[in-house]
Amino acid sequence: MGQANQKRLRHRDLRSGRLKCVYCGSRSADTVDHMPPIGAFTSRRRPNELEFPACEGCNAATRDVDNIISWLSRLQMTREPANDREFVELTGVISRNYPEVFTSIKEPKQVESICLPSGLIVPANFSQFEFDEYLGVVLKLFGLKFALAMHWLGTRKAPTADDRILVWPVGSGSFAAEETPKQLLRMLPETRALQQGRKIFSGQFVFTSHFEESKNGSVHFCAFRDSFGIFASFNPLPDDNLSDTDAEAVDSLCFRPSDLYRSYPFGLPRLTQEQLDRREAWKRTRPVWPRQPGFIR
Ligand SMILES: [Zn+2]
Repeated sequence: MGQANQKRLRHRDLRSGRLKCVYCGSRSADTVDHMPPIGAFTSRRRPNELEFPACEGCNAATRDVDNIISWLSRLQMTREPANDREFVELTGVISRNYPEVFTSIKEPKQVESICLPSGLIVPANFSQFEFDEYLGVVLKLFGLKFALAMHWLGTRKAPTADDRILVWPVGSGSFAAEETPKQLLRMLPETRALQQGRKIFSGQFVFTSHFEESKNGSVHFCAFRDSFGIFASFNPLPDDNLSDTDAEAVDSLCFRPSDLYRSYPFGLPRLTQEQLDRREAWKRTRPVWPRQPGFIR
């Protein structure tokens, strides 16, 4: 059977309505969701793995998050011309549709910047960024999506409202700074990349998972290029597995999918008045960062 036919049959199965949505666990799946998003891959060439049954509501509501993640995944330059060009294009998309992303990122203390051929200057290391609530929520939402999808992949169980998810975004430098939950890190097997035929997409996205024997809990990690990574834990493992500091950190970051659905119906957060004011100011003054393409010759 040809590849196109195989894909058609696989997708027909995923969206047949017989499966529950892997994200909300309550509605029937009638669409196929790509996690990670197609846009995060250079030239939108994405292998066929990691496709999930999702309801139309969840699929549509996470599109904004997927767009922002596709841009964030390119923050660390790869010196691949196609990728760098797409970063510049996506920067335009982000500034038109989600200017909060830029106002959410605080100017890093030490800017190790890289200048693209187009003249756009970007800091070289995501880990040096600080960001406020807005980008924090985007990363949490994506991490939630990631955890729900990967847990389903290993267990074929749809989530319930009582499940607890821990999401922990990390920059490339946080490994060196030992800011990552070490116990979680130790549990995880080596990362693997998506593959299509002989081509291995290791430079763009890698992931790994560990499942408890009971299949109630699982731990996952993924990284997008060298830009950022996400730890996610589905029903985080008992506290005695963690050092005091790690346990505290885990507690402060845990949330339930049901809380999230209540606050943000699985889309982007509603903007606070302060954020709306900043959006207006941003439009008036032109951004300092990121500099627009062509700003510097
Ligand atoms: Zn759903």
